[in-house]
Amino acid sequence: MRRSPYVVGIALAGALSLTMLAAPATAGSAARATINATAAAVTLPLAGVIIAIDPGHQLGNSNPRFFSLLNKKTFVGGTVPYKICNTTGTATNSGYPEATYNFAVAQDLRAALRALGATVVMTRYTNTWNSYGPCIKIRGQFGLAQHAVLKVSIHADGAASGGHGFFVMEPANIARPCLSRPSSMVTRSRTLGRSIITGMVRAGLTKSTYINNATMISSDQGTLNCSSIPTVIVETLNMRNTSDANLAKSPNGRAKVAKGLLNGIRIYLGR
Ligand SMILES: [Zn+2]
Repeated sequence: MRRSPYVVGIALAGALSLTMLAAPATAGSAARATINATAAAVTLPLAGVIIAIDPGHQLGNSNPRFFSLLNKKTFVGGTVPYKICNTTGTATNSGYPEATYNFAVAQDLRAALRALGATVVMTRYTNTWNSYGPCIKIRGQFGLAQHAVLKVSIHADGAASGGHGFFVMEPANIARPCLSRPSSMVTRSRTLGRSIITGMVRAGLTKSTYINNATMISSDQGTLNCSSIPTVIVETLNMRNTSDANLAKSPNGRAKVAKGLLNGIRIYLGR
């Protein structure tokens, strides 16, 4: 069952007492089943929470077959109101694609969140040469459609090789977002961004050496501009930097990044 994202936090806290109120004096099997289900649900810290993960790009974005579709522009609001559907993403100097890295980290994060009881929805469930997108507008709006409490977009940067470390991109207040959103969305995204930074540092990851405070407020990212729920893009490392590229290519390195994102999500949710 889908729940409104804003009641999930209180739903579990009140679940036991509500169940007790709902159960009649002559509690039948249905009421007992409700109590059993509730008891199972409260044992896991993220039970009842829906989280959206957006693994950036898609391997097939580099497939020439999709170039014309990929280059179609659509309205996404912000300072660059019309943008193309999606981009290829970057790669390490040895050719390990960002799309593949993003997807691998997303799978690690998804498994960790599910183990804690969360329901996880993803903007893409494949990493294949035979597909492209989804487009940034769909990625942006995705969390709302899925009733998620937050959305984290996983990326890796392709910056100058001398810089390394992670940073977060947070949405800005913009005059024309591509869909209406509550005014609290930007503030909550700031809190999510702070939480992700703390969580990544706790996992032993390094803040960006080339972005101040590991934070960038952006008004030209379609994925951010089209979201109406709290969201951030995390540039988890710099693929052009040798040590960061080694982190990206290693299963242990990717698990570390996923752990940092998990920490941040849990800090934000307070559970
Ligand atoms: Zn990217």
